[in-house]
Amino acid sequence: MAAKRKKVFVKLKCETCKDVNYFTRKSKILTSEGTKLNLKKFCASCRKHVKHAESKK
Ligand SMILES: [Zn+2]
Repeated sequence: MAAKRKKVFVKLKCETCKDVNYFTRKSKILTSEGTKLNLKKFCASCRKHVKHAESKK
């Protein structure tokens, strides 16, 4: 049985200025429903590390 590795393309949006700073792919397996990516990343607009939330295309 061939395992389908489905990857979802997501945007990471700064929660402060709402800028989309990062694009990432995540595995569907790791993505249980209701679980959203939330990463602390550097935002060029805010000039600091801020929370980036996953945003669907
Ligand atoms: Zn920002």
